[in-house]
Amino acid sequence: MMELDTGVNSSGQRERELSRMERIGAHSHVRGLGLDDALEASEKAQGLVGQAKARKAAGLIVRMIKEGKIAGRAVLIAGQPGTGKTAVAMGMSQSLGDDTPFTKLTGSELFSLEMSKTEALTQALRRSIGVRIKEETEILEGEVVEIQIDKPLGTSESKTAKLTLKTTDMETVYDLGSKMIESMSKEKVTSGDVIVIDKATGKVTKLGRSFARSRDYDAMSGSTRFVQCPEGELQKRKEVTHVVSLHEIDVINSRQQGFLALFAGDTGEIKTEIRDQIDTKVTEWREEGKAEFVPGVLFIDEVHMLDIECFSFLNRALESTMAPVLVIASNRGITRIRGTNYRSPHGIPLDLLDRLLIIHTKPYTETEIREILAIRCEEEDVQMTEDGEKLLTKIGVETSLRYAIYMITAAALCCAKRKATKVDIEDIKRTYALFIDVGRSTQFLREYQRDYMF
Ligand code: ATP
Repeated sequence: MMELDTGVNSSGQRERELSRMERIGAHSHVRGLGLDDALEASEKAQGLVGQAKARKAAGLIVRMIKEGKIAGRAVLIAGQPGTGKTAVAMGMSQSLGDDTPFTKLTGSELFSLEMSKTEALTQALRRSIGVRIKEETEILEGEVVEIQIDKPLGTSESKTAKLTLKTTDMETVYDLGSKMIESMSKEKVTSGDVIVIDKATGKVTKLGRSFARSRDYDAMSGSTRFVQCPEGELQKRKEVTHVVSLHEIDVINSRQQGFLALFAGDTGEIKTEIRDQIDTKVTEWREEGKAEFVPGVLFIDEVHMLDIECFSFLNRALESTMAPVLVIASNRGITRIRGTNYRSPHGIPLDLLDRLLIIHTKPYTETEIREILAIRCEEEDVQMTEDGEKLLTKIGVETSLRYAIYMITAAALCCAKRKATKVDIEDIKRTYALFIDVGRSTQFLREYQRDYMF
């Protein structure tokens, strides 16, 4: 049996760091599902507004996934365009946390990739299965460790904080134990701080940023920024875990360039025998208690774009013991299943429909639209007058929420051009005249149909 490279200390960690880089995207304001411990949704929380039932249902699914209670199940989020189906799925992704894989795919993407549809689906499914690998590690005696924490401590978030721990011979990521959090909170340590833990006594000393930058620290730590501990012996540290996806393991073991292919995104097709070997090896690790599966989520938006071949493939894949939870979304009513002459609800074959849990999203009220637009303005750092907000809301109600959201950026540019600080009615009117919505575009087409090419 081949030796598997899990890429844990190189690619896995680095890729996660890269994927953390954020930009303002359509759903970047969504930070979670905004639910309390009883899974109740408040009117507005974590960037989400309204859709209480859908959020609660999604929260239940997230909870079951986290507790390892479901895998190989499928959930459909159905609703009219712009009713927040993708936003709810993104909320699920955020609440699952970093250690549970979440893969997003758009139905139409499957037909544009340079590989077969089923290979693309297999890769997406395997990206959505994590393998938590347990490792025994030990910290050398007599060393001081340097630690960076990725979340502010002393808050509810800190329960899931990760720390990067450096010693002379290794760098690795740990989950913070509650005891450690307690002792650190007393020191008011926040993200980016450098602290030293004496592993023998558990004593935590905060060096602080200024000290970390100072010459003393440099002199102490040298170019590698590590120092010998003046006192005490460090205890041995046991069981460190890392989560990598099955797809990452596939790629690393199937290409000469290894993990670099992950960054290039050009992983090509992966041979079935490689995958079989990896499955056998990972199952072996699981039996030996060295690893466990972390079923994540594969989210397929615009699922009606899939054809009958893809649907049958997915149906079969869900039967596998290593299947993630499939979340699909569609805004279609009763429509033709691609690749057939049959019509069905959402263009999904009946045998798949039969196994779905269905979450519905409903159209927004005017107040909800106004709140979502206000959140987007904040996200894009755009200030708007009250009259501007009213007009934009009216446009959102009469055209679509998405069109109104898109108008924010353009209106802000008009506002900047006239050297004003707050977007006002005139900026919105200008944008409305420059970029037409679907309704007006369709109307225009109807009027001038004969002038277009047939
Ligand atoms: P489609 O069927 O056209 O794909 P959709 O139902 O997936 O639409 P989204 O793309 O989620 O709709 O929503 C459109 C925009 O509105 C996105 O920017 C989304 O983040 C935002 N949005 C939708 N619903 C909410 C909500 N409840 N709270 C906050 N933002 C929302």
